[in-house]
Amino acid sequence: MPRVCSICSHEDREEINAALLAGQPLRGISRKFFGSVKAEDALGRHREHLPLHLVKASDAAEVAQADNLLEQVKSLQARALTILDKAEASGDLRTALSAIREARGNLELLAKLLGELQQEGTINLVVAPEWLSLRAVVVEALAPYPQAREAVLGALSEPN
Ligand SMILES: [Zn+2]
Repeated sequence: MPRVCSICSHEDREEINAALLAGQPLRGISRKFFGSVKAEDALGRHREHLPLHLVKASDAAEVAQADNLLEQVKSLQARALTILDKAEASGDLRTALSAIREARGNLELLAKLLGELQQEGTINLVVAPEWLSLRAVVVEALAPYPQAREAVLGALSEPN
């Protein structure tokens, strides 16, 4: 059962997030906002699920742009996967293959975006929940196509 995050519901959440993003030690943040070190673990867990735009975000414009790009690629990907589903259901393998190619292209784009962003050190998409769920969806959708799935997984795990 998922537990409610005590930091997410904390009244000083914004300030706590800012302190986390600034890289302040959990112990110190806990002392400041909770009066003791008791919240250290909770803070660590909270840091793990900070939303994408908060992870190491220091430049708001850059992050907005990254979010926007990510959204667009995700939207393209959703459409490609819908087409894949339909094509698969109707036995249209030619269209299914094109959809897979599109989906793979989107993933490569995502991987590239991810690589560039990491190089610039502005953001860490690898831990972003959006990225992880998208990746899981795509990998699952490609399950009936082992070759495509392997190619995609290979492309994703290539070092930058
Ligand atoms: Zn939280």
